[in-house]
Amino acid sequence: MEPVDLIIKADYVLTMDRGLTVVEKGAIAVRGDKIVRVAREEEISNRFSSPKTIGGAGRVAFPGLVNTHTHAAMVYFRGLADDLPLKIWLEEHIWPAEDRWLSPEFVGDAIELACLEMLASGITVYNDMYFFGDAIARSTKKLGMRAVVGAGILDFPSKSAITTEEYFTNAEEFIKTWVGDELIVPNIAPHAPYTCSPENMMRAKKVAERYNVPIHVHLSETQWEVGEVQKRYGKTPIALLDSVGFLDERVLAAHCIWLTDEELAILAGRKVNVSHCIESNLKLASGIAPVVKMLQAGIRVTFGTDGAASNNDLSILSEIATAAKVHKAMSGDPTALGARQAMLMATRWGAEALGLGGITGSLEAGKAADIVLAGLHKPHLMPLYNIYSHIVYSMNSSDIETVLVNGDIVIEDRLLKTADASEIMAKAVSWGRRIRETDRCSQS
Ligand SMILES: [Zn+2]
Repeated sequence: MEPVDLIIKADYVLTMDRGLTVVEKGAIAVRGDKIVRVAREEEISNRFSSPKTIGGAGRVAFPGLVNTHTHAAMVYFRGLADDLPLKIWLEEHIWPAEDRWLSPEFVGDAIELACLEMLASGITVYNDMYFFGDAIARSTKKLGMRAVVGAGILDFPSKSAITTEEYFTNAEEFIKTWVGDELIVPNIAPHAPYTCSPENMMRAKKVAERYNVPIHVHLSETQWEVGEVQKRYGKTPIALLDSVGFLDERVLAAHCIWLTDEELAILAGRKVNVSHCIESNLKLASGIAPVVKMLQAGIRVTFGTDGAASNNDLSILSEIATAAKVHKAMSGDPTALGARQAMLMATRWGAEALGLGGITGSLEAGKAADIVLAGLHKPHLMPLYNIYSHIVYSMNSSDIETVLVNGDIVIEDRLLKTADASEIMAKAVSWGRRIRETDRCSQS
């Protein structure tokens, strides 16, 4: 018998590998941080011995979900201002609150809450763009989660830096500090074409190439953005970035809502990865990205929650359920964005889009053990004819029972194992009380 550290059993193991293999009555053998083998339960039991076995009947195992676009620390601004146009929401509520509150301490505490929420809903890796990257990375590691953390670049002063030189010095320092970490991948995040000049975009790209890290941008989120970029540069955002040589497969672009057919072809041709943030886009009435057309063009579309202030939760299960339905209605085609396709976008494609395709995103021997185990013995999941259908259309975050990241059990039977969840929530309540008092004073 070969010794392993953990065996996970489930009625269905969705590997999300190249052949989208589903192993019924399956099991996963885990040693250290890696998956050793995925096979039928009797084969795993006959071949491996383990001090611990979890899961079993009435469970499904699938790869950790990938959240490809968020501003995780914004969980502390969840519900602070809703039902407003984007401009008023940002300029009168979110930016003043960020200006007043953001600090490494605030961000570090908020990230603990965000990671708790994401892990408990089956997300094992997220791609972040915000301020105070070191605080984000430290809190994420504390909770045992994986993240790609962006060093932000803007043309104007912010909490991060004052001058362009300072932004880039900070970004390189941040990347050097974290590159090679087992859970954190540092990257560079020039905010958007209307907040970063083409020169700064390209300078960020050179940094990404030098350190071989991904690039994270917002792109064509609103009609206003397209008009503004056209006014300034005489080109639409995607045409502008392509004309300077910015776009390639290293780039993950969030939103991509307002595209011409020519721009869609550019994204496909340059192999740009897209993060589709349907719930945030719906709530802010930004528009609906042409996802069906993107998929037809061969673009790797993945899912992001965006920040919790515009969503208002951090659940990829919820994103895929919404997206799979909205795009059927939009295209008038109920076969569009099927359950299996949506699940692929939320797992392996998400990991590949973040440059982590060799590490996570599918349950295969040699990959990191980033695994979700969910319960199926629930009224809303019975009877069961198609496991993909249940995960995409019927499952809730509260069905997620156990979550592994890099071989470590971080959530077990819905309880956080890496930190004290009640302490994290107490800090959230306490920050929330202070923010509410100030917000009330500023409005009266
Ligand atoms: Zn965003």
